[in-house]
Amino acid sequence: MAAVRFAEVHNSEPEGVWAAPGRVNLIGEHTDYNDGFVLPFALEQSTWVAASRRDDGVLHVESLQADEPVRFEVGELAPGGSGGWARYAAGVVWAMRAAGHEVGGLSLVIDGQVPLGSGLSSSAALECAVGVAANDLYALGLERAELARLAQKAENDFVGAPTGGMDQMASMLCTQGNALFLDNRTREVEQVPLDAPALGVRLLVIDTKVSHAHETGGYGERRAQCEQAAREIGVPMLRDVDLDGLDAALAKVGDEVVRRRARHIVTENARVLDTVAALRRDDLSEVGRLMVASHVSLRDDFEVSSPELDVAVDAAMSAGAIGARMTGGGFGGCAIALVREADVDAVGAAVAKAFAGSGYAEPGLLPAAPSQGARREV
Ligand code: ADP
Ligand code: MG
Repeated sequence: MAAVRFAEVHNSEPEGVWAAPGRVNLIGEHTDYNDGFVLPFALEQSTWVAASRRDDGVLHVESLQADEPVRFEVGELAPGGSGGWARYAAGVVWAMRAAGHEVGGLSLVIDGQVPLGSGLSSSAALECAVGVAANDLYALGLERAELARLAQKAENDFVGAPTGGMDQMASMLCTQGNALFLDNRTREVEQVPLDAPALGVRLLVIDTKVSHAHETGGYGERRAQCEQAAREIGVPMLRDVDLDGLDAALAKVGDEVVRRRARHIVTENARVLDTVAALRRDDLSEVGRLMVASHVSLRDDFEVSSPELDVAVDAAMSAGAIGARMTGGGFGGCAIALVREADVDAVGAAVAKAFAGSGYAEPGLLPAAPSQGARREV
């Protein structure tokens, strides 16, 4: 649809069409800002951008998911300005130019399938689609990881959203049939086999439709507690505590709540490593066990779950899911369940029924298979 709309608006075919996916995190929550490990994979749902260069120095951005086109002068792009949603696109051009890359005018028409604001990273999908388009059209020759870094810079410094780098790394670097193991300290990545169809399973994303946007202090408070724990333990980051040293480390933390926060981070990092090992030997029941352990830790030690997320996980497990957990920052957003293909309908129905029984809004259900990251489509 992006290319069709482009032809209508600009009276010419776009030079090309690029796409980048949303993502969901299989395991490794709140570990990113502790220099730890995460294991996201790319969704099939992507954001498309039909794009052409233009020689008047104008960046013209339109989205089928937004009302009005937005116009910028590329030479005058600056953080914190107006432009609403279009700043996610303009920020990428700004970040590229700020890094010394010669990107000129562009006409962009965007069409996204990733639900906006559900925690599946429509923002990174948009940034990364624009990033690969500008990289190809202006022949910048940038590596994927560098494009991800510039997309993150766009979101952090141009839009002003203080997020980690997982979303953009996943959208840029994921490959079909794999999850992406990411070490947030070194930014090293490894492809980890998670070919759901070949394994006869599905990853079911359950959207509680409860927005975490209203949640204010929780995220900052958790970050501060993690920093406090690292300080009292005497390590640079909680990443530097391993499972063997956990009891000795926790004994140095005075506050009981802070101790539990630290325990979540250390055990969660271990669970990511264990999940990678289990996936490499196709041990899905171990993966499921680790997902549930992650949820319990996020619920009880880190206290970032919500009643809706707990109901989703419990209902999915009762209906035969192999594993289930909240995914994303918490306080709402999505859960993810690992489900045998034959059980997908039953698990979906059980979650919907449990939500209705609890008086919650109908959840969204999105069967997901690990898919290809950012790419040129046409
Ligand atoms: P998430 O990344 O979890 O979907 P964010 O709040 O980080 O949530 O990003 C959502 C925002 O990104 C939207 O409110 C909008 O400003 C922008 N956005 C993402 N995709 C599109 C799109 N296809 N069209 C217009 N704006 C988009
Ligand atoms: Mg986002």
